[in-house]
Amino acid sequence: MFTSLQSLIELAESRQLPLHEIILQGEIASSGRSREALQADMTRRLETMRASVDKGLASPVHTLSGLSKGNAHKFYTSIRQNDAALTGSCLSRAIARAMAVGEVNAGMGCIVATPTAGAAGVLPAVLLSLQEARGFTDEQLVNALFTAGGIGIVIVNRANVSGAAGGCQAETGSAAAMAAGSAVELLGGTPGQSVHAVALSLSNMLGLVCDPVAGLVEVPCILRNAGAVAQCFTAVDLALAGVESLIPADEVIDAMERIGGRMDERFRETAQGGLAATPTGRALAQAFWTRTRGEKTNEF
Ligand code: SF4
Repeated sequence: MFTSLQSLIELAESRQLPLHEIILQGEIASSGRSREALQADMTRRLETMRASVDKGLASPVHTLSGLSKGNAHKFYTSIRQNDAALTGSCLSRAIARAMAVGEVNAGMGCIVATPTAGAAGVLPAVLLSLQEARGFTDEQLVNALFTAGGIGIVIVNRANVSGAAGGCQAETGSAAAMAAGSAVELLGGTPGQSVHAVALSLSNMLGLVCDPVAGLVEVPCILRNAGAVAQCFTAVDLALAGVESLIPADEVIDAMERIGGRMDERFRETAQGGLAATPTGRALAQAFWTRTRGEKTNEF
C-alpha cells in the first residue's frame, strides 16, 4: 500500500490532510473495513499497550530466565521519589514505560508488537508519556497510532523490521522511527517534520546489531527500548525545531536495508555475536540452559 514516506507527505499536502487521515483512508481502501471498525481495533490496541505499561510499572516483573530484574519498577520508583533524572521528567518516565513493556513481554505477558515484540516498548512509552505530559486524548493517541502504523508499513515495504533479517536497527530503530514520526504529528508538526523525525531517529540507530543473550528477548532488548526512546525524543525535538535530515527518510530506510543485508549472521538474532558472545553473556546463557534442560550445553 504505502512504499514511500515522500509520497505520504505529498498526499497529505495535496489533500491538506494529516498523515493519520491519509493512512486511515488507505487502510479503509485496502481492507474494505469501516473507519469505525478500524478505529475500534486501534483503540483496543492502545488499551493493551496501557495495560502492559501499568503492569510493568506496578511491581517488579519476574521472568522464567531470571535475566530481567524488575528494573522498570526500580527506575520508575526512583524517578518519582527523586526528580533529579538528567533525562527530565517526560523522557525518564517514557524510559521507565518502555522498560515496563519489555519486561512484561519477557514475562510472557500481553503486549502489542510495534513493530515487533522485542521493540514493543518504544511506541506506547512515547505516546503515553506525551499524553501524561501534554494531556492528549485517547482519540489523539489512536490517530498517532495510525501514523506510526503507516510509517511501519513503509519500512516493511522498503526494508524489514526483523532482527533476524536486519539486526536491532530494524526492530528498535524502526520502533523509534515510528514513534518519532507519530509524536511530531501529535505535537503539531507538519507531515514533512514527521518524516524528518523518522529519518533523524533511524539514522542514529543504523548498524545496531541483534545480540540477545541466550537467545531470549531480554538482554539487551529491554534496555535497547529505553535507548530507542531517547533517540526518538531527540529526533522529535530536532524536527520540531526545524532541523532536517539531509538524507531523505526513504533513503535512510533503504540504507538500513542494505546494512542489514550485509550484516554477519552472528549479529542477526542468532545469539552468537555482540553482547551474547561476551564471556558474561555466554555464562548467563550456559546457566540458563543448564537450569532449563537439566544438563550442560555448548549451544551458546
Ligand atoms: S537485540 Fe534482537 S531480539 Fe533484542 S530487541 Fe534488538 S532485534 Fe529484537
